[in-house]
Amino acid sequence: MSLEEYGKKRDFSKTSEPKPETKDSGSRIYVIQKHNASHLHYDLRLEFDGVLKSWAIPKEPPTKPGVKRLAVQTEDHPIEYARFEGNIPEGEYGAGTVEIWDAGSFDVVERSDDKYLVDIHGIRLNGRYYLVKFRGSGGDKNWLFFMRTG
Ligand code: MN
Repeated sequence: MSLEEYGKKRDFSKTSEPKPETKDSGSRIYVIQKHNASHLHYDLRLEFDGVLKSWAIPKEPPTKPGVKRLAVQTEDHPIEYARFEGNIPEGEYGAGTVEIWDAGSFDVVERSDDKYLVDIHGIRLNGRYYLVKFRGSGGDKNWLFFMRTG
């Protein structure tokens, strides 16, 4: 899902969230934002191709192997969004509070259309992680996010 979709969902005269612009940060940004909206969730964002690829994780992200989390892909976010914390006003898309839950960088080990293998260098999350698209029910937005075992 594109950055254009990000722009369409938001009224930038009302929300202080960053405007939809592509940018190369010079490194690969990793961030997880705890988003207390209508449902509390965790937004995982990884920098690829000048944008933040994004997934919403309904439960606390795995900090050790053995836990697999559903990660629902959402629209790409602008690079600037990695630093966003604050309140999205009532009535706006994603209304609620956003706080940075973990942040750092990552390296790409392997990447294909339905699989990302990355080394995450954060504080809470540190190690090799998989994002794997799974087939079957729920359309094409559902991925599994987990830490590599062994
Ligand atoms: Mn969110």
